[in-house]
Amino acid sequence: MRGVTSLAEEHRNVPFECRGCWHVWEEEYLVRHVDDRHGGESEVWLVAGQRVPPPPHGALCPHCGSQQATTFPDGYLSRHPELIPPIGPVVPDATPLISPVRKRAAHHLT
Ligand SMILES: [Zn+2]
Repeated sequence: MRGVTSLAEEHRNVPFECRGCWHVWEEEYLVRHVDDRHGGESEVWLVAGQRVPPPPHGALCPHCGSQQATTFPDGYLSRHPELIPPIGPVVPDATPLISPVRKRAAHHLT
């Protein structure tokens, strides 16, 4: 018998924050819910098909390489979009501490 179709899988984007440099980033995990055969359910976390420890364990800051990362609660970043680094070319930032009240980039109407 092959193929277990009852497995529930979900993609989860887990937001992390580095305790070393306060860099914020997301990692995409595949979370597989498996029956542990004891009436419970356990989760298997995968990245690129490789089993990894559940976050924040195993997370590595892409900015400074620190392993001292912490996770945000689900949905945290959607309430704090200012924490999400802009998508695009990485520009060296001399001020890594971003004010939480940073204003939106002003689009001046001319
Ligand atoms: Zn860092």
